[in-house]
Amino acid sequence: MTALRPLIAGNWKMNGLELSLDEARAVAAAVEARPPAARVAICPPATLVHRLAEALGGTGVEVGGQDCRAESSGAFTGDVSAEMLTDAGASLVILGHSERRAGYGETDALVAAKAGAAHRAALEPIVCVGETRAEREAGRTLDIVTGQVRGSLPEVLGGKPFAVAYEPVWAIGTGLTPTSEQIEEVHMAIREVLTAMFGDHGARVPILYGGSVKPSNAGEILRLRDVGGALVGGASLKAADFLGIIEAA
Ligand code: PEP
Repeated sequence: MTALRPLIAGNWKMNGLELSLDEARAVAAAVEARPPAARVAICPPATLVHRLAEALGGTGVEVGGQDCRAESSGAFTGDVSAEMLTDAGASLVILGHSERRAGYGETDALVAAKAGAAHRAALEPIVCVGETRAEREAGRTLDIVTGQVRGSLPEVLGGKPFAVAYEPVWAIGTGLTPTSEQIEEVHMAIREVLTAMFGDHGARVPILYGGSVKPSNAGEILRLRDVGGALVGGASLKAADFLGIIEAA
């Protein structure tokens, strides 16, 4: 079974003003000059999605949102729908990031509803899962992560483009990373669930690793079994760092 093309996605979180577009342009120029093995995407804050999509149009670097509402429109002050992201030029959306699960009480069911909305709006969801430090220490990592995968992916994604990102909560923004064995163990468990849920398509869907990926560790992580790319936070903010990761794929 041939795996789908790896994906390196940058998550700018709540960082980025107009000036930051220059970093993205530098990434796109390098990607155009030397097309990498992986697909590349940048997910800026919602305020920059449209400008970034315009700036990067035709370069091969895709643009994504960081969240969306499950409903397509309505009285939801401050929220953004999947259709709005598509309309602004996005082709992907990160969903169920641990910062949203922890900070906004997002459940697996809500993440699944958002993933359904993404599909409806022709966006490719990158659905995040991952255990906390306490859950790992209690030996519950595989139960937690496989439960999140089962609960966060609606059936409608069968045969459609999507990715799962394994992001241990304790590795995000901390400089800590799991061992290679720990990453492979979780990715293999995710693969089993995806294959059971989606058959051949589930066997090929990219499973990204996320959590303190940087140029110095990207090569080792991206070569691990069943790692189909990376979701990159801090190191995606500077073109030089992000390119170091893209080139390692
Ligand atoms: C993230 O928030 O998705 C992430 C992986 O962050 P960092 O790379 O900074 O750990």
